[in-house]
Amino acid sequence: MVRALELAQERGLPWIVLGLGSNVLVKDGGFPGVVIRMGKGLDRFEMKGATAIVGAGMPTPILARRTAEAGFVGVERFIGIPGTVGGGIYMNAGCHGAEFAEIVTEVTVMDPRGKVKQLSRKQISFKYRASNIEGIVLEAKLVLGEESPAKLKELQAKLFRWRKAGTPFDQPCCGSTFTNPSGSTKTAGMLIDECGLKGFTIGGAQVSTLHANYIINKGTATANDVLKVIDHLRKTVAKKTGVTLELECKIIG
Ligand SMILES: Cc1cc2nc3c(=O)[nH]c(=O)nc-3n(C[C@H](O)[C@H](O)[C@H](O)COP(=O)(O)OP(=O)(O)OC[C@H]3O[C@@H](n4cnc5c(N)ncnc54)[C@H](O)[C@@H]3O)c2cc1C
Repeated sequence: MVRALELAQERGLPWIVLGLGSNVLVKDGGFPGVVIRMGKGLDRFEMKGATAIVGAGMPTPILARRTAEAGFVGVERFIGIPGTVGGGIYMNAGCHGAEFAEIVTEVTVMDPRGKVKQLSRKQISFKYRASNIEGIVLEAKLVLGEESPAKLKELQAKLFRWRKAGTPFDQPCCGSTFTNPSGSTKTAGMLIDECGLKGFTIGGAQVSTLHANYIINKGTATANDVLKVIDHLRKTVAKKTGVTLELECKIIG
């Protein structure tokens, strides 16, 4: 990883870190730089008492399952967030009323010069689907509570069924397209739905008929198709409701 950062610096290239790519849209021209992919090899998982020490490359659903099986509560509701722990911490991912910010106590980060440092919770500012973390999340400590594995298993099964029924879980997409607007009682999905845009299609990109805040690839979508749909959704929602939607998914390239 240090070598990848050095290489980028030597050649004057931009770099980016990716986990499972579940909240990004890469433009059709690609990314003209170094991509550091976090995954296997950086997926340590260890429980020390009620503290989980987790590598950034571990998929969040696996963390949710393993901690629940071990009888720990805190990340069980993240069973349906299809990214890595590193991406989840950077994005402050969350659902069903919980988010990473609530359980993170320490994060190990590699800064852009390759230096590794520990950030305590106090040094990190988390907001809704955002953090001020600069550099690459390598590992985190998460403080959990104790709960019966059977109870957690039942809850996860329920949440997973709900997810499968209400989101395009097994279709290619770039995750939630927009954040839920802060000044509105309605979610981004509700606003898009109210504008009659479920199923709206350009090329191979379609607003999901299951959940309007997801744009799915019907098989032939280019990133440009998706960007055109995003533009149309923003303009229509602003015109009809007065709400300006902000992107949650990261556009790369
Ligand atoms: C079907 C579906 C359902 C989803 N449901 C939810 C949900 O309920 N709640 C929710 O919050 N999100 C949800 N998401 C979005 C997404 O899964 C989360 O944001 C996830 O945490 C992103 O993790 P990732 O590893 O895929 O990150 P990526 O998509 O690879 O990257 C996202 C951003 O994080 C940065 N990043 C990734 N890894 C690191 C790292 N190690 N260090 C520093 N920066 C890093 C990237 O540079 C990029 O800016 C959903 C997505 C899909 C496709």
